[in-house]
Amino acid sequence: MALEEAAAGVVILGAGQAGGRAAEALRGKGFAGAVTIVGDEVHPPHERPSLSKDMLLDLAAEKLVWVRPPDWYAANDIALRLGVAARGIDREQCRVLLDDGSTLQYGALILATGARPRALPVPGADHLRCRMLRTIEDSRALRVALADAARLVVIGAGFIGLEVASAARRQGCTVTVLEIGALPLARCVPPEIGAFYAELHARHGVDLRLGSAAVAIHDRAGRAVVETSTGDALEADLVVIGIGIVPNDELAAASGIAVNHGITTDEFGMTTDHAVFAAGDVSRHYNPLLGRHVLLESWQNAQNQAIAVARNIVGPPTPYAEIPWFWSDQYGINLQITGLPVANGRVVMRGTPGDGPALALQISEDRLVCAVALDAPRELRAAKEIIARRGAVPEATLQDCSISLAEIYRGMRRPSSIAS
Ligand SMILES: Cc1cc2nc3c(=O)[nH]c(=O)nc-3n(C[C@H](O)[C@H](O)[C@H](O)COP(=O)(O)OP(=O)(O)OC[C@H]3O[C@@H](n4cnc5c(N)ncnc54)[C@H](O)[C@@H]3O)c2cc1C
Repeated sequence: MALEEAAAGVVILGAGQAGGRAAEALRGKGFAGAVTIVGDEVHPPHERPSLSKDMLLDLAAEKLVWVRPPDWYAANDIALRLGVAARGIDREQCRVLLDDGSTLQYGALILATGARPRALPVPGADHLRCRMLRTIEDSRALRVALADAARLVVIGAGFIGLEVASAARRQGCTVTVLEIGALPLARCVPPEIGAFYAELHARHGVDLRLGSAAVAIHDRAGRAVVETSTGDALEADLVVIGIGIVPNDELAAASGIAVNHGITTDEFGMTTDHAVFAAGDVSRHYNPLLGRHVLLESWQNAQNQAIAVARNIVGPPTPYAEIPWFWSDQYGINLQITGLPVANGRVVMRGTPGDGPALALQISEDRLVCAVALDAPRELRAAKEIIARRGAVPEATLQDCSISLAEIYRGMRRPSSIAS
């Protein structure tokens, strides 16, 4: 898309992290046309990771993280239309229809509508004691509820569920986590790390029930009772449901743009309509480094893909090509993941989880494809470089803890120096 074509202005749907970063990058790249951000939440663009971490711990301190200070938008001539949802895209007329009846004309449209928590498809999941976590309001309400709750049931041992469990244990709640799979975090980390998180939560007093699903929730004198597939009935003051997300791709789909559980984009962030781009949790983009389309639910992707899309609207197209990166904090342990795990990769451990810095390196076809670091951020950075280089690395070399990953990476440019 050339700058002149976007001269009618850029409209950004979604005032989350990706929406805010896209607007910031447009101005940063010298785009002087109109920029409008439409957001159905009432808040200016903000980041979400603190909502399941620091925000839940401290009743007195709100740790909101704005993409830019709220007054930055007006100062940079960016119109913020908050508390209003887009309800249609007229691609022929290049217009967006808003639910207050107004319309916005665009030269280029960026869809940054993010995702929403997946609803639990069981009877009673709308019980008053059940919560999900996505927004500032969700986090505020959960923080207050946790302070009063004696018994918490978390449904889903993904990152959100486990971070909530960690915060709740710190506040002295009795916590039961139900996980349908055989290990926690199974979608995101190799089994060795999943097993460590199972043990970590157990050590902190969480009753983690693997292979157990919630099948119904009913009321008992105002409390929720969660019935499980293994025949238990767990009474709770509070139930937190964290079973994944659903990308908000319906507007795109209704306008005829290709979606596939997320809006399909190419490596430039462009959808099947050349005037329409997508970024962040809602996009399933082609990643040239991985050689496939991926949907990433991560801070890094929300920021950097949005910046790439803005760059591609303003200047010559440059592919967005990054190795995925994600982090989580639980019980004071920092976990970072780079790359994407594969189903049958071999895992090499460096160090022992729970006993100082440790790394799990997953190898597939002689290449490093995924690394998970526990309190080892520097090694993780080197692992990311190795994954991006996509060269063969002997497993024995990865196993040899006397060679740092940075050395292995440097050696990949001179393969003879590390080959074993
Ligand atoms: C509780 C929590 C903790 C997290 N922790 C981490 C972490 O530790 N590390 C990490 O890497 N990632 C983390 N993430 C993921 C990260 O926050 C997301 O990947 C990121 O927020 C995605 O940004 P986004 O802009 O694509 O979507 P969002 O931030 O969801 O923003 C999309 C916005 O669009 C709005 N919208 C939707 N439809 C419309 C419409 N029709 N009209 C107008 N507006 C609309 C939505 O309401 C929302 O405000 C966390 C996420 C959550 C929820």
